[in-house]
Amino acid sequence: MSAQYHPDPETLAEYAMGALAPGMELLVSGHLTFCPSCRSRTTSYEVLGGAALGDATQLDVSAPSLETTLAMLDEPVPPVPSGATAGHSVFPAALRSFVHQDEESINWTFRLPGMYEHELSGFGTEAVSLLKAKPGAKMLSHTHDGEEATLILSGQMQDGSRVYRKGDVAQADHDQDHTPEIIGDEMCICLIVMSGKMRFTGYLGRALNVLMR
Ligand SMILES: [Zn+2]
Repeated sequence: MSAQYHPDPETLAEYAMGALAPGMELLVSGHLTFCPSCRSRTTSYEVLGGAALGDATQLDVSAPSLETTLAMLDEPVPPVPSGATAGHSVFPAALRSFVHQDEESINWTFRLPGMYEHELSGFGTEAVSLLKAKPGAKMLSHTHDGEEATLILSGQMQDGSRVYRKGDVAQADHDQDHTPEIIGDEMCICLIVMSGKMRFTGYLGRALNVLMR
């Protein structure tokens, strides 16, 4: 089943340019394992090079190389690298190279009733962790000075009217409070990446770009 919720176009463009911080890069490459349409879109951005970095959203409708983009989208979808989804692990290959074990052998840290976390180190100012939560568990509402992205690896998470399933990406800044809840009857495992202050600077920079257009 294809993913229903994707990283925003700007994030995909930054991924294609190699401009994402390592945690977000890991999250996006995990999503690409599950999502042929984003693999195709990312390939287009790679071909278009620096032109895509200016405004990935506008690129879809008004950039001079729209025909090139459309032609690329008709190309066969790049295949998933071999071994990317092999075995019983819920982790895509990109993630397994950081985790080095499957979900059953991880030494999960208790966080809240029905909720466990496993932090991944080596991501600088980004906070990157795996979360394992039972159906019915609710994430605590929290505030954060940056962006947060979640990649669902198993189970289902509901946030407002949206239901996120395996392969889906929930991407939001923290302008509004939200309390995602695990639903269905399967354990939910997800990868969560929160940006740090470095990322926040980048976020402000993009806002300035919009204002000065
Ligand atoms: Zn996608």
